[in-house]
Amino acid sequence: MNSEPDDPAIDRVPADLLETAACALSKNLCDHCLGRLFAKLGFGLGNEERGRALRVVLAMVGEREDESTPFISREILERLPVHKEDIQESGMEPAPDTPTSSWNEPSSPSFNRAWMEEVSEGGKCWLCEDVFHSLDELASVVLDEASRWEFSTFSVGCRMDPRTVEREQLLWQECGGVSPEPIKEELNREIGKRVFERLDGVEFDRADPDITFVLDPLYRSITCQVKPVFILGRYRKLVRGIPQTRWPCRHCRGKGCDRCGGTGRMYETSVEEQIGKHVVKILEGEDFKLHGMGREDVDVMTLGTGRPFILEVRRPRKRTFSPVDLEKVINEGSGEMVSVHSLRRASRKEVPLIKGAPSLKRYRALISSTSSLDEEKVKYNISLLAKSPIEQRTPVRVAHRRADKVRRKWVHEASVEVLSDGKAVIELLTDGGLYIKELLHGDGGRTEPSLSSLMEIPIEVETLDVMGVLFEDEMGTKEGVESHGKKVQGHNGKHQTDAQKEAQE
Ligand SMILES: [Zn+2]
Ligand SMILES: [Zn+2]
Repeated sequence: MNSEPDDPAIDRVPADLLETAACALSKNLCDHCLGRLFAKLGFGLGNEERGRALRVVLAMVGEREDESTPFISREILERLPVHKEDIQESGMEPAPDTPTSSWNEPSSPSFNRAWMEEVSEGGKCWLCEDVFHSLDELASVVLDEASRWEFSTFSVGCRMDPRTVEREQLLWQECGGVSPEPIKEELNREIGKRVFERLDGVEFDRADPDITFVLDPLYRSITCQVKPVFILGRYRKLVRGIPQTRWPCRHCRGKGCDRCGGTGRMYETSVEEQIGKHVVKILEGEDFKLHGMGREDVDVMTLGTGRPFILEVRRPRKRTFSPVDLEKVINEGSGEMVSVHSLRRASRKEVPLIKGAPSLKRYRALISSTSSLDEEKVKYNISLLAKSPIEQRTPVRVAHRRADKVRRKWVHEASVEVLSDGKAVIELLTDGGLYIKELLHGDGGRTEPSLSSLMEIPIEVETLDVMGVLFEDEMGTKEGVESHGKKVQGHNGKHQTDAQKEAQE
């Protein structure tokens, strides 16, 4: 079946494809690196098969005794291992003579062996330095690391030696690949395939894997990028005097100094630590971060249904957990300060939703005044607060770190009970981002109206507690919020969103 010069099948093989392949073989390339120059041709083929096929075709075409393929030089022809004399000279077994049998079994062992040995005879592949011979070993490096992590989706990424990438680009420039694929992509895929075959119950996922193994094929070193675990729930802060998140010492920025007694922190603990320390231990993570739906002041408790939060656990070795068990561990370990409920697994996408979600907040404040608090008068004036928008200029106490501007917020529900000692308990449902202490004492006129300005008496806020942060199903649709007493549509959009950034302090 040696081709006649006018064999139409041969004439149809595009010359540019063969020319590129011949050009590439002016360097010593392995089949992977040769085939990769044509990676989009031949659906379902691997690059190694492409490379091998091109070598066969070049050998066949090159044996024609005519001038139609001047680009196949003697040197290149000698590099094609299917060339009979070469194989006989090198003492290798010749490829099966019957073309039918070799085409039916393109990867018969004798065919392959002769080939690979010949390719590497003149040294390693110029481009990849024979890295494709080590795919199984490289996969083992990944599998070894993989055994230390729990994951259900993964991907593999190779960190290439810049010199390899440079050689590849040089090859593209010189010979012009028809549809070349970068070496990195083939390596990622081939190693990923081998890892996948040897692991049970995991999926290959390039877009958003639990873990990405980053391999250096040259040095066989490996690192991994691990997706954090996110847990959504609600917390109640049962004590005053701890901040929501860790707060490094202002003077030493966490290093430890005399002011903070060497602890590096402003407060002994935080809601974040009281929740995170248990979870990070169970999931064997390296660190954690709490994302709250707003935050309360250090001296404010959060009671009632609590405040939604997402705990992010970084670089967790384990990813599965029982929300019920987790809740129990946290509440048993930290329950005197912080308790949690309604835990569930969340995703990274939910973090901005939590942080930016429009919300309504319930508060309970204990107030007192140097003037007397007449129950009827307080009731009447507090009902006025729920009837008009509150124009609130950034409070003095936070002005050093928040833009000074006037925000318009609403009070949706308000009630009062005057106690026998002359103090009063006020309960409020308000937009998120309304500063409640200022709503009551007036902040020297910066919040208008305030309970103090309406009653024309000084008001002191003795304690303030968050009784719940309402969002999603509790708020329902915008219309649904009406059931909380006041239509909020129309001032529920933008203001509510930056409400969260400027959450109640
Ligand atoms: Zn190669
Ligand atoms: Zn310090």
